[in-house]
This record gives sequence, C-alpha cells and structure tokens, in this order.
Amino acid sequence: IDRVNANPISMAPQTGGKKNLPITQIFMDDEEDPEAQAISEKPHLVIIGNGWGGIGVLKELEHGDYKVTVISPANHTLFTPLLPSAAVGTVEIRSLVESLRKLVARVRGHYISGAAADIDLSNRLIEVHSKRPDGSVDQFYVPYDKVVIAVGANTASHGVPGLEHCFQLKTVGDVLRIRRSIMQNLEAAALPTTSDQERKRLLSFVICGGGPTGIEMAAEIFDVLNEEVGKYFPKLLRKEISVHVIQSRDHILNTFSEKISEYAEKKFAKDEINVVLNARVSRVEKDKILYTLKTEKGDKTEHVIPAGFMLWSTGLGMNPFAKRVCEQLPNQFHSKAIIVDSHMRVKGAPQGTVYAIGDNATVDNNLLDALLDLVDDCDRDQDGRIDFEEFEIMSQKLRHRFPLAKSHLQKIKNIFQRYDKDKDNVLDLNELASLFSEISSKIVSLPATAQVASQEGKYLGKKLSKLASARERLSGTEIVNQAGDLDDEIVSVPFSYRHLGSLAYIGNSAVFDFGSPELSFAGGLISLYLWRSIYWSEQVSNRTRALVMIDWIKRGIWGRDLSKDR
Ligand code: FAD
Repeated sequence: IDRVNANPISMAPQTGGKKNLPITQIFMDDEEDPEAQAISEKPHLVIIGNGWGGIGVLKELEHGDYKVTVISPANHTLFTPLLPSAAVGTVEIRSLVESLRKLVARVRGHYISGAAADIDLSNRLIEVHSKRPDGSVDQFYVPYDKVVIAVGANTASHGVPGLEHCFQLKTVGDVLRIRRSIMQNLEAAALPTTSDQERKRLLSFVICGGGPTGIEMAAEIFDVLNEEVGKYFPKLLRKEISVHVIQSRDHILNTFSEKISEYAEKKFAKDEINVVLNARVSRVEKDKILYTLKTEKGDKTEHVIPAGFMLWSTGLGMNPFAKRVCEQLPNQFHSKAIIVDSHMRVKGAPQGTVYAIGDNATVDNNLLDALLDLVDDCDRDQDGRIDFEEFEIMSQKLRHRFPLAKSHLQKIKNIFQRYDKDKDNVLDLNELASLFSEISSKIVSLPATAQVASQEGKYLGKKLSKLASARERLSGTEIVNQAGDLDDEIVSVPFSYRHLGSLAYIGNSAVFDFGSPELSFAGGLISLYLWRSIYWSEQVSNRTRALVMIDWIKRGIWGRDLSKDR
C-alpha cells in the first residue's frame, strides 16, 4: 500500500486499501520542531471513541510514547452518570463536557472528527466517514500500528415498533431535546385552552426500563415536578401529573441487591411513581405506550398509558462498527460485544494490534477462571467430587467480583438442574467441566458501566505506555519480535476488575450496593451527599468539577432554570 503524505485538511486522493479511498498520513515530519519529529517516528496508536474507555487510555499515556490519533463524531467527552440531572436542569450540560482537543494536546496527538465505518485488519486501515457542515461526507483511511476500539454500545430496540417516538439519553443532543420537551409539555399543559384529558397526557411521563438510567431519570423528573411545578405552575394539579416506569423484570434496579431494589420500590411507591413490573412494551405510538402483562395463569393482557413524554432505556445493543469488526473474525460469536482476552486483545485479530474496551467489549473467561478458582477452594470427597450445596454457597462469593452475578448464578443454577446428581448430591469433575464450558459460552463477564470501561481504559493505557518504553529499552534483543514489538504478557499482568460498588439516585436520596449487605445502604441525606461527592470526584477535569459544584449551589439557592427555549 502506498501511504501518501496528506494532512487531514488537504488530502491528496490516492488509490490504496480495499475501497479506493485516500490514506491519510496524519503526523508529518517537521524539521523545525525536533519534538514533533521524534513523535512522528513512533508507532501510530489510533483510539476510536471518546467515552470512558477511550479517555481512560488517553489519560494514562505518556507524552511521546506514540503518535496518537483519536477518532470520534463528538469533539468532547461526556460525564454520563449525571446526564439524568442535566436533562432536567439540576446541572448544566456544559458542566459535564470537556474538550477532546485539550485532552489530546497533552500527548501532542491529533483528533479527527468522524466515525469509524470499517476496518481493514490485514492492511491496518480504519475507514473513517466525516460529515462536513454542508452535509457532504468525506471518506478516507487512517492507518494504524495499534488500534483501540472503544465505540460504546447502542440502545437495544428489542424489535419494538414506534421507538422513533421515544427519547434516548446518551448524548448532549438527547439531553437538550429532553429538557426542552419537559418544559414545553409543562407550558402547553398550563395553557387555558388545554383540555383536561390532553393536560393529563402532557403530564404523563413514561420511562421504559427499570435499570439505573431509567430509575435516575424517573427520580429526576419527579423532583422537578414535585419541587418546581407546585411553586411556579399554579394551574397544574399534582394529581394530574404522573410518572411511570415500565420494567420487564420482577424488580427495578435488578443488578443491585434485592434489599436495595425493594427499598427503591418502596420509595417510588411513597412518591406515587407508578412502577409496572414484569411488563413488556409491545408498541409505541406518538401519544401512548402499549405494554403486555402476564397474568398468574400465563395469559397476556394488553395495557395502554397515554403519554406526553417517553424515554427508552432498556439495555444495550451492538455498535455497527463493532459489528463490522466481529463479522471479519471467525471466532467472534457474541451478539452484543467484541470478545477480548484478559489483555483486552481482540480475539482472532492480528496479535498485539487490535484492542477493544468498554461497552463494546466483553472479556472472555473471567468468570470461568473465577469458577475454576472456586472449585479449587471447595472440599472434595475421596473420589474428587464436590458437594453441590457447598459449591452453591461458595459461588455466592462471586457476587462481589461480578456485580451481575445474581443473574449469572441463576443461570448456573438452571444449568445445574440439568446435570445428574447422585443421591449424595455431588457433582463429579467431568460434569463440572462440561458445565463450565456451557457457562463460558453463555455469560457476559462484566457489566456495561463507566466503572468497567474506565478501569479497562486505564489498564490498557498503562500497558501501552509500558510497551512503548520496553520496546525502546529492549530494541535489538530477541524479546522484541520481527515487527519491532513485544508481547503484552512481557510488560503486564492480565486485566482484573475491581468492583467499587454500584450507586443510583432515587430522588433526594441514593442507594449504594458495595457487594455485601453490611456495606450497602440506602436512603437519607447522607446518601445524597455521598452520591454527589463520588460523582464530583470522578469528574474528568478540575474545570468540570468546579462547574458542577457551582450548578449544585445555584440550584440549591435559586432552583432550576425553567426556560423552555435552549
Ligand atoms: P461510551 O462512553 O458510550 O463512548 C463511546 C463513544 O464512541 C461515544 O461517545 C460515541 O460518540 C463514540 N462512537 C460511537 N461510534 C463510533 C464510531 N463508529 N467511530 C468513532 N466513535 C464512535 N455507568 C456507571 O458506571 N455509573 C453510572 O452512574 C452510569 N450512569 C449512566 C447514565 C446514563 C444516562 C448513561 C447513558 C450511561 C450511564 N452509565 C453509567 C454507563 C456508562 O456511561 C457506560 O458504560 C460508559 O459510557 C461506557 O464507556 P465506553 O467508553 O465503552 O462507551
């Protein structure tokens, strides 16, 4: 392949790569700038995605390790945990974003505004599509020596028709649209010409999905209606306002412990937030949502909620670029994410060149390894067999390491039921072996959270940095391979996730699940301040930290901004 020297602004169209697109050389030799010249000789590291994973990598890199290019459609990074607060004006969205160009400048890297559309693994090229202000799209290749895929996940549609009528909550644009819609609904409901029926519909807020995002959004909407509407919209009656959560499982916040889920349900019942459990949304229309409930006899009944606002937040689906990567590799069978090994290397891709982290990646074998460790810890009888009940008790320990272990353990139990146990209730090792291979193919090992993406990103950033300095130190020795690179194992141990707990805001109160009942708690003003201080300390920069603090103070003194045109 001829790699042409072309900066991103004036690309010389050239053939090359499989699609006859120009190949851009982003870093140029600059004889007047020795530092830039030194960097231009380094391997090219491309980070695709500007979220928790991508930024985690970027923040750990040392200046001069690589030529670094970040590709993403948005030129900022976003603090997602506070998006529900921003959507109702408790904090400003501008306080949650930090410029990507500023973060990239630290390592003298480049940023390309565009989306990765495809990858050519054998020629090491990323196909990028970049939209210009006039709507035209530039298409070109960016070459890489190493690439980190951190494009996150899409919202799962579950095949439900009519989702175009629902809001989503993922981007700055989503936040602005939601905020405008809530205020427009309140103003329209307060008009003297609005009928009673229409007013009730406009004031009906429906959240589909009872996970942390859905629950926090319901709690924030309730806060606005409760705290601001009574004061500033005297025409609107509390009894005309309704907030609904439609959840497919038998509890909300079902990745938290049962006690915490129940606490949140009681709090919502007290606040008169309508929680509908075991319900499946079947269709969404412009002004209503339809769902089915299963009766005890197993029959299905259909229900309708007229709605002025609908949010869809029901789990994750695969990002199209991540899907393209998987389609090119034979052993990528997962339906939602790219399978990586415990060094975050994409399984099946050329060794040491392609990594994936965050919501678009799933680490293979982590749970399986944990189960194998656990079997080692179990007592055995003289025939090497393990007591089934002891194994079940021991497996409860996995809950701490794997926050989703509740559903994992249920799956393990279901699989257990199908294996023959003899009258002493023991499993032999052959049965365990086939049990584990079944588990390993079924279980997604880590949850899709900022905590996981950030830890994976930091781990990978540190490792890439170590690889860069080891490569220089050991060049000329046999440890460095023909491609001038080293194996990851030489500089780093495998990634291991440290679960620091889960938290969620439930309306002037918060819940914390730190993995064991003694450490978990819910409710009270202290929990609210703890929730705030954790998110405050996790901000990406001191600038956003200061802005978020100012927003909380402003809201405490003057309330939220209720303007609808923003
Ligand atoms: P993302 O953060 O989603 O970033 C991926 C980025 O890649 C996106 O910004 C996107 O623009 C970009 N991108 C997409 N496609 C392409 C492409 N083709 N080319 C280039 N770039 C692309 N987690 C918690 O742990 N705690 C919380 O309290 C919490 N609250 C949340 C609240 C909300 C409202 C949401 C939406 C999520 C929340 N999460 C929370 C989950 C958390 O935000 C995600 O798990 C985390 O963002 C995943 O990080 P990531 O880097 O994998 O992906």
